Amino acid sequence: MIWNPKYEMMPRKDLEELQLERLKIQVAKVYEKVPFYRQAFLKKGINPSSIRSLDDLSKLPFTSKQDFRDNYPFGLMTVPMEQVVRLHASSGTTGKPVVAPYTANDIDMWSEVMARTLSSAGMTKYDVMQNAYGYGLFTGGLGFHYGGEKLGATVIPTSAGGTKRQIMLMEDLGTTVITCTPSYSLIIAETALDMGIDLSSLKLKLGVLGAEPWSEQMRQEIETKLPIKAIDIYGLTEIVGPGVSVECPSRCGMHIFEDHFLAEIIDPNTGEQLPYGETGELVLTTLTKEALPVIRFRTKDITSLNVEPCECGRTIVRMAKITGRTDDMLIIRGVNVFPSQIESILLEIEGVEPHYSIIVDRERHMDILEIQVEVSEEVFSDEIRKMEALEKKVQEELESTLGISPNIKLVEPKHIARTVGKAKRVIDHREL
Ligand code: ADP
Ligand code: ZN
Repeated sequence: MIWNPKYEMMPRKDLEELQLERLKIQVAKVYEKVPFYRQAFLKKGINPSSIRSLDDLSKLPFTSKQDFRDNYPFGLMTVPMEQVVRLHASSGTTGKPVVAPYTANDIDMWSEVMARTLSSAGMTKYDVMQNAYGYGLFTGGLGFHYGGEKLGATVIPTSAGGTKRQIMLMEDLGTTVITCTPSYSLIIAETALDMGIDLSSLKLKLGVLGAEPWSEQMRQEIETKLPIKAIDIYGLTEIVGPGVSVECPSRCGMHIFEDHFLAEIIDPNTGEQLPYGETGELVLTTLTKEALPVIRFRTKDITSLNVEPCECGRTIVRMAKITGRTDDMLIIRGVNVFPSQIESILLEIEGVEPHYSIIVDRERHMDILEIQVEVSEEVFSDEIRKMEALEKKVQEELESTLGISPNIKLVEPKHIARTVGKAKRVIDHREL
């Protein structure tokens, strides 16, 4: 179902006109209200009147996570605090968090894009949505919550964690849709198995999963272990939270709600804009945000854009599944390795479970890559010889694709720590 056909199916020419009109207003606003932007514009020798067409977007300066940190907490805000009705913040695991203020109109816009998101995923007002994204400062919980209510569905705000209780409620309250991170969906599956509950005997049928990278192979694992169609959703705190883009039932890319978010792909090394179809770093500009408009935010997420018409009828651009981040690439003995590549290879191998850790260390100036991966109960209790054969197979598959030889450690089921939110799969002990 298309929640807002007017904006999701707008002829591209009209959409581009609307985007330009909105962009001009956002640019004028940040120039007037935010010293950081004014200085950045002046440094490039431009001002709001420099924006005459969408092509002029590339004249504008980029914004990065560091700029958010430098202006912590409210330096990028464009409205007085009395207009702000809510504050969220990112996890801030690597320093000060990003603070995201919202006006009442921002919350309305966010609920609207989340209603579109859930509708695109296949949800309707007849659904019962169990929301296992974390409630709190993290944008996931409340973002989904407001979208579900706007759609008219029944929302159960369980938040993340308490997995046994999640499953009991799922059974008792007739949950049809689960919303959580892909990794948490697997914990739900595993816990149900332990409890002797067959999830396929419940009403559950759809999962709207995101907030962390997950490969197509991971999607297959999830769909085998849970009775759901798994839909990918993307978003980030700096831009709005979840609700930037989502798959439609065709699952061939995530449609970006372009009347609110303007997307570009750049070469992460040169900053040059790349044409549709080419892979690079996603850059997003908000078009309607009031409290925190953001110009050309470098997401570090690697994807490509496809503007071809989609089967579903939406005209808005699609972004490919994220294959990694410019800052999650590991350089091991000089070879570039993305965690997503490792995940894809591991999950193609029979007997290997979708729980793994990538551990990097340095011994006597040599990088060591160790991959710990769980194997199924059957494999683990099998003869040593069979375990060794599997270990060798994993080792060879990885070596032939990555070009470096990792140490493989097959571990028993549940050996690897489970997290209820975003999974942490890479542990880098090197001091780089
Ligand atoms: P933090 O993790 O710092 O709290 P966010 O929650 O805003 O911040 O995280 C946003 C990031 O999460 C994105 O830039 C992207 O790297 C990742 N992400 C979100 N959704 C997806 C998705 N569907 N696929 C891959 N990565 C995603
Ligand atoms: Zn579509």
